[in-house]
Amino acid sequence: MELYNSLSHKKEAFVPYEPGKVSMYTCGPTVYHFAHIGNLRSYLMEDVLEKYLRYAGYDVTRVMNITDVGHLASDADTGEDKMLKGARREHKTVMEIAQFYTDAFFADCAKLNIKTPDVVQPATGMIPEYIQVITRLLDTGYAYLAGGNVYFDTSKLAKYYVFNDHDEENLAVGVRDSVEEDANKRNKADFVLWFTKSKFEDQALKWDSPWGVGYPGWHIECSCISMKYLGERLDLHCGGIDNAFPHHTNEIAQSEAYLGHPWCKYWFHVHHLNTTGGKMSKSKGEFLTVSLLEEKGFDPMVYRLFCLQSHYRKSLTFSWENLENAKAAYEKLVARIAALTEEGTVDEEGAKPLKARFDEALGNDLNTSLGVTALYDVLKADVNDATKRALIASFDTVLGLRLLEHAAALQEKEQAATGASGEGDGEIQTLVDERAAAKKAKDFAKADAIRAQLAEMGVEVTDTPQGPVWKRV
Ligand code: AMP
Ligand code: ZN
Repeated sequence: MELYNSLSHKKEAFVPYEPGKVSMYTCGPTVYHFAHIGNLRSYLMEDVLEKYLRYAGYDVTRVMNITDVGHLASDADTGEDKMLKGARREHKTVMEIAQFYTDAFFADCAKLNIKTPDVVQPATGMIPEYIQVITRLLDTGYAYLAGGNVYFDTSKLAKYYVFNDHDEENLAVGVRDSVEEDANKRNKADFVLWFTKSKFEDQALKWDSPWGVGYPGWHIECSCISMKYLGERLDLHCGGIDNAFPHHTNEIAQSEAYLGHPWCKYWFHVHHLNTTGGKMSKSKGEFLTVSLLEEKGFDPMVYRLFCLQSHYRKSLTFSWENLENAKAAYEKLVARIAALTEEGTVDEEGAKPLKARFDEALGNDLNTSLGVTALYDVLKADVNDATKRALIASFDTVLGLRLLEHAAALQEKEQAATGASGEGDGEIQTLVDERAAAKKAKDFAKADAIRAQLAEMGVEVTDTPQGPVWKRV
């Protein structure tokens, strides 16, 4: 597979450290509010990447953190803790908020057919590991104490800004809100590893540490959680593009300083979902959720298709009109699949070029929109329906659009509506056949009696040149 690597700033052949195995880490949500559909675009595209790697035969282990402490209102170490802010807003404890929004996050993921990672680790469950890593960073001179906090010293690194090909706007999102400078920092880019002093003395969650009672900085959790479950060499790290700086930049700084060798090979960043009014953000208070899409009559699979129709490295603009278009496309696709019969056996030879087209699309930096096109190619192809169904089932293990499931549901609905195979249909058909036989035998009295009986059952019979047809009225 060829994958764009933010670290090398180019598309590269994907070669994991260990053949056949992929260790994959994903920055999880900060659970102080519902995820908006922008957040979910990132998780959805990462899910397609994971599914594709599995489809391509890799044994994938995926780990995700849950940020339930330490992420301040600004990504640059200032402002109130987001979790505390959420707890205040809802008059609940931080842990109640964390549990509620973690559950809500995975419920949304389930609706969008996003697989739960193999390991999900809340940040608050790893305090001893943070203390151990920070202790070593202090011992080796990569960290320093100032004003009660522990900071990472970015001047100790040969190269700190590893992702600096990102445009100004993306680099800036993480730090835009930071208006005040922290006088304790030796260098502007230094960041907090452990807080004991904060403007908010009532920080709800605090732990004892060699540097005083406090709480971890936001970035340390992902380094420690990843190393704990996936070891010292990570193949693939994912996140939204706004995580590239400062979050991922800081993760690399502290992980490599701690390990003393390169850490993660490939960095996968999903670009933003914007609204016509600009970037979508949880902190703005007003945002689009999966539940809202459902309330407006959109199946979550429609949003999934909407995302797949664009490349993950392009920002995507959400509008209701765009979503309507995706809905029409999804419904048409499902209808065409529902019209396929179960007949025939799979034509392996005929399937090969169609599968190759799909594999080429996904293998080329996860080109999902061409992957969707490959689905249409299957529907148009000159192969039997069994082959089409088999290919669609296989592609959908990657695209995750629940196509066959929705097609089966549509078939059932249509059959019920036309009365073709609803409950009691056998009995109706027998009566219709008996009436036809009576008519043929010129026993019109019997034929009329049966018609009346059917009418009582709510069934209307019409004689056509092709024979009698019936419907429920
Ligand atoms: P958060 O819960 O704020 O930590 O964000 C969760 C994930 O969503 C991170 O990977 C972010 O980079 C990503 N993200 C945030 N806003 C957007 C957006 N508008 N579009 C796509 N991804 C986003
Ligand atoms: Zn992270």
